[in-house]
Amino acid sequence: MFIVFEGIDGTGKTTQVNLLARALSGRGLPVLVTREPGGTAAAEAIRRLLLDPAGESLEPLTEVLLYAAARAQHVARKIRPALAAGRVVLCDRFADATLAYQGFGRGLEIGALAGLNALAAGGLVPALTFLLDMPPAEALARLKRPADRMEREGIEFYRQVRRGYLELAAREPGRYRVIDARPAAGTVHGLVLAAVEEMLHE
Ligand code: C5P
Ligand code: MG
Repeated sequence: MFIVFEGIDGTGKTTQVNLLARALSGRGLPVLVTREPGGTAAAEAIRRLLLDPAGESLEPLTEVLLYAAARAQHVARKIRPALAAGRVVLCDRFADATLAYQGFGRGLEIGALAGLNALAAGGLVPALTFLLDMPPAEALARLKRPADRMEREGIEFYRQVRRGYLELAAREPGRYRVIDARPAAGTVHGLVLAAVEEMLHE
């Protein structure tokens, strides 16, 4: 089963992935935790380039192609094999981040990005996607060291990204669970675990 966590920076995706991994492992399920961009050695190298592009800024198209390249490697080399081996794969961000950030945030054409995503992911779609949702001002305030990009982008960028995520979730209510990310991590985790257990028992 392939489960993804999405949401703007600072909403607690990484924390929730780790809490869910511990809970499922504790029930004896084989779990793989991974993230995007990244997940394999080469994809992590692409991540480093994305986050620190050698002293120049990246064109939006360059950026989106690098995310797609990292995703293709990650899906083929890590996610697919783990799913084939019967593991529960928990991923911190996936293809919808491209639609939300590079599409809604950066203004690239959504239809083209959806095609690129389908190509890069080889048609792989999560069984369940959690959208950890909260207002950007609160999310960004929770980051220990606000990312450089946040200072570059400003809050309006994150408002667009959040709006994008909410729109994606509304389009696919069967796959998405929108969770208010403002309560304590343990409270959010309870909601996440309940949704996963419901799915496991289906
Ligand atoms: O979630 P994580 O902190 O690993 O993401 C790394 C950075 O990449 C974040 O600042 C996030 O906003 C950015 N990102 C992006 N477009 C994506 C995925 C992540 O700008 N499609
Ligand atoms: Mg994180």
